[in-house]
Amino acid sequence: MDNCIFCKIIKGEVGADKIYEDEYFLAFLDITPVNPGHTLLIPKEHHKNLFEIPDNTLCEIGPIIKKIAKAIKKATNADGINIGMNNEPAAGQIVFHSHIHIIPRFSDDGYKLWHGKEISSEQSKETAEKIRNFI
Ligand code: AMP
Ligand code: ZN
Repeated sequence: MDNCIFCKIIKGEVGADKIYEDEYFLAFLDITPVNPGHTLLIPKEHHKNLFEIPDNTLCEIGPIIKKIAKAIKKATNADGINIGMNNEPAAGQIVFHSHIHIIPRFSDDGYKLWHGKEISSEQSKETAEKIRNFI
């Protein structure tokens, strides 16, 4: 896609610190990393986000996430790894070419995860039923 920054990285029109590439996927360092080693793994085919990625691409990406996460953990001596994907602006997506964040984490890096809200068991059951109806 012409106006997509990640498609431009794939085509070599924009530079990136690449760490993995095969016929279908590319991984490179995030330009504003949460921690050094923060990597973005993208399918080379342009899809907006999770809701548009073909199932076979999702099947293939899993082992690559694991391979890269293991390499980042070893290379950075990370204590843990977060895997994330922002889908749609409400979830924080700002680049509309599907991508997985693979983020090294350190016990003392000062970040917190988001906090859960308390909800009633009725609301939880109702929500579970609603979701089941769409599975
Ligand atoms: P999001 O869409 O919120 O999941 O995140 C997009 C991510 O892409 C952000 O973490 C940006 O720092 C990163 N990003 C944007 N442009 C580039 C680029 N040219 N090279 C590397 N990372 C980028
Ligand atoms: Zn793209």
